[in-house]
Amino acid sequence: MKTATDLKNCCPYCLEQTDAVFYFGDHPRLPSPRDISVCAHCGEWSIFGYDLRLREPTTLELAEISRYRVLPRLVNARKSVRQLRLEAFCPEI
Ligand SMILES: [Zn+2]
Repeated sequence: MKTATDLKNCCPYCLEQTDAVFYFGDHPRLPSPRDISVCAHCGEWSIFGYDLRLREPTTLELAEISRYRVLPRLVNARKSVRQLRLEAFCPEI
């Protein structure tokens, strides 16, 4: 994962404000509408809308995501974020 560019946004789940976009792949680019985002604060998956604001995926989009080739990477990203938060806020567990 690499830094692509600055882009202010807000996670629709935890409401954390973000100011950068990270991406998978070799070429930096802005996200496109319907791209998937993984929140670095809570690990939830969101979708970039046509205005590039993040929103919750629809039920249909969640079904589509389950068929994506990158699903294992999305699942690992979510697990990594949650593990880091667990270690940071619950170190005795
Ligand atoms: Zn979040």
